[in-house]
Amino acid sequence: MIDNPGLREVGIGTASSGIAETFPDILKLATGCRFSDCHHEQEPGCAVLEALRSGKLISSRLENYHRLVRELAFEQEKAEIGLARSERRRWKGITKLAKEIKKGKEDF
Ligand SMILES: [Zn+2]
Repeated sequence: MIDNPGLREVGIGTASSGIAETFPDILKLATGCRFSDCHHEQEPGCAVLEALRSGKLISSRLENYHRLVRELAFEQEKAEIGLARSERRRWKGITKLAKEIKKGKEDF
């Protein structure tokens, strides 16, 4: 998984709180990870994987966590693409309006 700073910045209110509500145990374990951006997949010093190995965490729960993280990343990506599109539409509208104003002035 590639590091996505946009997910952390833009989606901090929605995506992250969804994870926090659903997997408070994993997030608590994650505070013990060596890396703050740990994805709990194969990183060294991962406290979540350590809990998995020691039986404190069941693998299906971590799988569901990964599934939610991926889903949120996907939703975030879709939202960002949608945002870029509406931004372009907005600019197109402004350009059109500017042309109309200009045309209107020239008609005087
Ligand atoms: Zn980890």
